[in-house]
Amino acid sequence: MSALLGCIADDFTGATDLASMLVKHGMRTVQTIGVTERTLPSDVDAVVVALKSRTIPPADAVTQSLAALSYLQRLGCRQFYFKYCSTFDSTPRGNIGPVADALSDALRVDFTIACPAFPVNGRTVYKGYLFVGDVLLAESGMRQHPLTPMTDSNLVRMLQAQTSRKVGLCGYDVVPRGADAIAERLRELREEGITYAVVDAIRDADLAALGEACAGFRLVTGGSGAALGLPENFRRQGLLAPGVDAQALPPTDGYRAVISGSCSVATNEQVAVMKRHHPAFQVRPRALADGESVVVEALAWARARMTREPVLIYATDSADEVKTAQHRIGVERAGALVENALAAIARGLVEAGVGQMIVAGGETSGAVVKALGVESLRIGPEIDPGVPWTTTIGSAKPVALALKSGNFGKADFFVSAWKHLP
Ligand code: ADP
Repeated sequence: MSALLGCIADDFTGATDLASMLVKHGMRTVQTIGVTERTLPSDVDAVVVALKSRTIPPADAVTQSLAALSYLQRLGCRQFYFKYCSTFDSTPRGNIGPVADALSDALRVDFTIACPAFPVNGRTVYKGYLFVGDVLLAESGMRQHPLTPMTDSNLVRMLQAQTSRKVGLCGYDVVPRGADAIAERLRELREEGITYAVVDAIRDADLAALGEACAGFRLVTGGSGAALGLPENFRRQGLLAPGVDAQALPPTDGYRAVISGSCSVATNEQVAVMKRHHPAFQVRPRALADGESVVVEALAWARARMTREPVLIYATDSADEVKTAQHRIGVERAGALVENALAAIARGLVEAGVGQMIVAGGETSGAVVKALGVESLRIGPEIDPGVPWTTTIGSAKPVALALKSGNFGKADFFVSAWKHLP
């Protein structure tokens, strides 16, 4: 195979978000969970390697990102994309600066852009300042983030704190004038000795023009939004096969199940809606801690019902109940018990004939994917913003998976997602 665009994402759901964006813009895309030794399909235009490197020590993030880069180089990719969060989640230690530095060195580039803007999700950049909705980043909820509290909103300053190379700005006096004007400004910044140009963008049209201006760049860095204009460059060069449906997934069949381990507000609503339509089984942390055979029970319960309709197996609970369980069992132990149980149930369900499954929760999805031995996924049509259907690659029979992080998806997600499957 020879892919065109190779992407390195610093977390799993961010990788899916980017992959979904590329599919929407016509690139057939595969997401791998870390670097995989298994062969990927040959008809792939973009590969997104999902790392878990956002908050690990900078040196580890660099090592993992470089390993992902050389993997993508072996796949034949021509352009590389470093994807971070649209809220620029990082600290003065990194990891955005150190990883960008290491990728630049490895690719021998002395200039690239940095643009986390994602206007459809309310992330805009103006005069180098990042806005979340109507407020500056440092005035948003991100100020209180447990791991990466964002207390500065100025991207030039923030990135400069993470790198010894010079950071500059391509501002909104230039960006709306289009791709040529942006390219010209980027050339000037490069000549001034700037390595990273933070780029203002407040509309998708700005990102499309920015993408065009980055056509010849070996390395681009940004959120999902800044990748929006890149597929068109490959199309213009005749490198993307015309008339191909990038969203097409291989057909899957089998029974349908939802596994829910997220306790977010959105997921609680989704569980409530699903319970009104289909049978549901609750996994209680206390029963797990008491050593009850919850996994066996859940599987027997599901087998008796899933031949007729989709089933829901959930640990999802209200914030109060979660707190009570955590108080009794311990935060980490409760989380691990629930994750392990749901992952074992998911594996048992697939062995029993489930072929289409929704999983709710970032950590829960990670545990399920691991238990199923999945190393890569083909990305298909979007169900709700940022959540596509995917199919497993490499298993004897593909399984359709929708991996939803906590706060994503409308209230009827578990009931209506199935209709987006081929
Ligand atoms: P989200 O994407 O909403 O953050 P995650 O799956 O990443 O969801 O995280 C949810 C965590 O809460 C997991 O570790 C899960 O095992 C744990 N959990 C789920 N249900 C319960 C519960 N009833 N009590 C305590 N912890 C729970």
